[in-house]
Amino acid sequence: MKSDLENDLKKLFSRDQLLTSLEERLCYSYDATNRSFLPDAIVFPHSTEDVVKLMRYAYQHKIPVIPRGAGTGYTGGSLPVKGGIVVTFEQMTKVLHLDKEKKYAVVEPGLVTQQFADYVAKFGLFYPPDPASLKTSTLGGNVVECSGGLKGRKYGVTKNYVIGLEIVLSDGQIIRTGVLSARGRSAFGGNGQNDNSYDLEALLIGSEGTLGLLTKIAFRLLDKVKYEQTVLATFDKMEDAAFVVAAITASGIIPSVLEFIDGDTLTCVLEYINLDNIEKSEAVLLIEVDGNDKEEVRKEFEEVLKICKEKRAKNLQYAETKAEKDKLWTIRRSISASLLRIAPTKVNEDICVPASKLPLMVKNIQQLSQKHQVRINTFGHAGDGNLHVTFMCDFRNKEQMERVEAAVDELFDLTLKLGGTLSGEHGIGITKAKFLEDEVGKSGIELMRKIKSAFDPEHIINPGKMFS
Ligand SMILES: Cc1cc2nc3c(=O)[nH]c(=O)nc-3n(C[C@H](O)[C@H](O)[C@H](O)COP(=O)(O)OP(=O)(O)OC[C@H]3O[C@@H](n4cnc5c(N)ncnc54)[C@H](O)[C@@H]3O)c2cc1C
Repeated sequence: MKSDLENDLKKLFSRDQLLTSLEERLCYSYDATNRSFLPDAIVFPHSTEDVVKLMRYAYQHKIPVIPRGAGTGYTGGSLPVKGGIVVTFEQMTKVLHLDKEKKYAVVEPGLVTQQFADYVAKFGLFYPPDPASLKTSTLGGNVVECSGGLKGRKYGVTKNYVIGLEIVLSDGQIIRTGVLSARGRSAFGGNGQNDNSYDLEALLIGSEGTLGLLTKIAFRLLDKVKYEQTVLATFDKMEDAAFVVAAITASGIIPSVLEFIDGDTLTCVLEYINLDNIEKSEAVLLIEVDGNDKEEVRKEFEEVLKICKEKRAKNLQYAETKAEKDKLWTIRRSISASLLRIAPTKVNEDICVPASKLPLMVKNIQQLSQKHQVRINTFGHAGDGNLHVTFMCDFRNKEQMERVEAAVDELFDLTLKLGGTLSGEHGIGITKAKFLEDEVGKSGIELMRKIKSAFDPEHIINPGKMFS
């Protein structure tokens, strides 16, 4: 810790807003990628004014500032790769406003996703984006990563619910968009957009904390859905499950959940939690349909079951009660924890391909595993074509990590060839930066650099991310 920086920050922030010891800095040096970079200090703002104060100081002294939510990011977005001050939003967790009539809420960015969804549910409202990390990840992290989730295919991802942002720029200026802008508040009637300017909100969503620090977010909300039906289908062949996904998509039915889990991952889960009646198999689909018209939901569910049977589903487990539904969902929710038991390092890539290309992609992944002799566990939001391809390895084994890297390179290559994208939801951060140009092209990267410089001329906000 550089002593000038420590002394300066002590003048700006109270004791409970600042951490500087080595042990404390170590705690904020990593995220879910398992990589580690030591920050020089950690600041806990309580308000927008605190963030403005910090940015004015950092801008004057050209010190890197790295926004951080819960550190669940899979691409290193919250890592202080060039040192500097980590700003963690753990103490900005309030719901500032809930409008039940107009169905929207304004929150601080450090609020945990599940806590927000539970809060609005008490008022009969529904916040759909549900990343699998929702019990830990924050809404601020969700917005700048544009997180998706299990309900993404039907209900969309985080960007579909943002209707206003407050953001502090690198020099301490504040920008407000949508319903949080002066014009937006009076104009709000559902989407709150300001059509007369560039759509800054769209630019900020998914910007991975490289353009500014979010301090308030307004989300639109839906009414709670009345009816849902859930089934877990098991298959003897991975490709059969992938064909069911493609067939459901082609049928026009949009399930609220369509999750794919490969057989090896299922085995890990079943060894981790004890579930009667669920037998090991080569692939599993967790499917849910929902809606407010009971008869419509029933018809869609029957059609889904018919497709599963036609495509050789081995076993169908229905959930009639909430307890049964929770049991089926436990399988999906236990994947991460159960995989951590089999290898110390998880390299988790979240590629996305058109649903019709899923069967081919699944086959390609099996071949990659054999070719590079790496254990690969695959699961994910198949309804979106979004697969979490997880390479199980040990970061201490250099030779193995080289094989993993070669397999990841090949995975991205295959994904782009199938018309897919490198990241369905985890973002680019540091781990995928070298591949971004393949997706957006040279001129795309140059334009992004110019946008970055316009927002952050000194490049102090989250430096070293997205651009290789
Ligand atoms: C077990 C597990 C399951 C997951 N499942 C999913 C999933 O289903 N879908 C999905 O999309 N992702 C998933 N993720 C990835 C991750 O949870 C998401 O990217 C999440 O949005 C990150 O939120 P966070 O609060 O942890 O942010 P962090 O990891 O702390 O930060 C992520 C990025 O946001 C920036 N940031 C954070 N707060 C702010 C702010 N207030 N202002 C500006 N920038 C900010 C950081 O600088 C960083 O670039 C999963 C991760 C894990 C570990």
